[in-house]
Amino acid sequence: MTITKAKQNLCPCDSGLSLGSCCLPLITYQRPAESPEALMRSRYSAFVLQNVEYLLASQAEQERPVDQRSRLESTIKTFSWLALHIVACQSEPFDPDGAWVEFVAFYQQGGNIHQLHEKSVFVLRGQQWYYLEGDILAGRIWRRNEPCWCRSGKKTKKCHGQSFA
Ligand SMILES: [Zn+2]
Ligand SMILES: [Zn+2]
Repeated sequence: MTITKAKQNLCPCDSGLSLGSCCLPLITYQRPAESPEALMRSRYSAFVLQNVEYLLASQAEQERPVDQRSRLESTIKTFSWLALHIVACQSEPFDPDGAWVEFVAFYQQGGNIHQLHEKSVFVLRGQQWYYLEGDILAGRIWRRNEPCWCRSGKKTKKCHGQSFA
């Protein structure tokens, strides 16, 4: 089943805003993310735009696999990202040592649709949020009468209700 979306000039993070007024100023370092959610959205957009530099730069400094860059560069092109849903965020005031965002991202890889359901933790260093780590959660179930995750406007049962495990 194909996904049809009019995405011209819209930010890949599905905020409904234009790229230029949403994630682009963050990805181009014109301004810092004002919240963990904003940073999470900008990292999703960076995945869509295949911006490996930003993905590496927006991580908290800690031990990372030495081959992370080459792994990202070779795998990032194999993902086709379809939709982002923010499930929940830690409310303000954010804990600067670990504020979390739970999200579901849908992507296509090898002809199949998958979902990544993750609770990510972000830390504040100086004035800037960084991605620290994430826990992968079990796939979120979209209820039959819930609007489909692909934002077609149809109910899940009439759209992608059967199309992924
Ligand atoms: Zn955005
Ligand atoms: Zn759908």
